[in-house]
Amino acid sequence: MIAYDFFTFVVMIVTDTHTHLYSEVFDEDRDLIVTRALDAGVKQFFIPAIDSSYIPSMLKLKRDYPEYMYLMAGLHPTHVKENFKQELAAVETMLEMHQCFAIGETGMDLYWDKTFIKEQQEAFRYQIRLAKKHNLPVVIHCREAFDEIFEVLESEMDDSLQGIFHCFTGDLQQAKRAISFNLKLGIGGVVTFKNGKIDQFLSEISINHIVLETDSPYLAPSPYRGKRNESSYILKVLAKVAEIYGIEVEDVAAITTANANSVFGLTH
Ligand SMILES: [Zn+2]
Repeated sequence: MIAYDFFTFVVMIVTDTHTHLYSEVFDEDRDLIVTRALDAGVKQFFIPAIDSSYIPSMLKLKRDYPEYMYLMAGLHPTHVKENFKQELAAVETMLEMHQCFAIGETGMDLYWDKTFIKEQQEAFRYQIRLAKKHNLPVVIHCREAFDEIFEVLESEMDDSLQGIFHCFTGDLQQAKRAISFNLKLGIGGVVTFKNGKIDQFLSEISINHIVLETDSPYLAPSPYRGKRNESSYILKVLAKVAEIYGIEVEDVAAITTANANSVFGLTH
């Protein structure tokens, strides 16, 4: 009994705060991918939404692994089109029908297409308000849109706003600004890239402000860069963050899991 307690005490719990495990690219080997992650110590998976077409596969994922999956409801900025109001209604239905732990991913993405910039901004604002109304964190996607995103956050800022700046790729100043809006920084594969830049200043940010993520199947950490990413690869991110802060990987796992639990309102 004592040996067992000791064993459970030292077991590392890693939290992937952003993984698209329901993606069709995992249809052939999803069980293997989840098992590999569980074996690596990843025991909590937070599942960001994209648009209504993915809701059935998200719900199936939750049915298949009920104790490990935590769903979000949201409309991804690159999926904001003419029908975005309909899509936002589907987000609300998802919130009413199923337990969700965050609104996301939302935000703005001006890298791919600027056609719907106004609609992206409106959908982002709407989802922030939805998060505040439901007392949920907001998970923000930002690509080439720091100024536009900060402008919306500035006007929506209040005590109830909190969440994660997912896949943070900005500079130190932008990191501090994100934190000032009560957002944690989602640190993923980019921190392991040679030209990723965030590794150069991350140690100046308290580790209490960061959570770990993969954003799988995208943005695989090195040495898997360019390949399909999966949640077990979060160990590469964990190792790099431990190196940056000069602390043990077990401590990084414990601190970032506690940070994630506080954002998502998990009590265990
Ligand atoms: Zn994502």
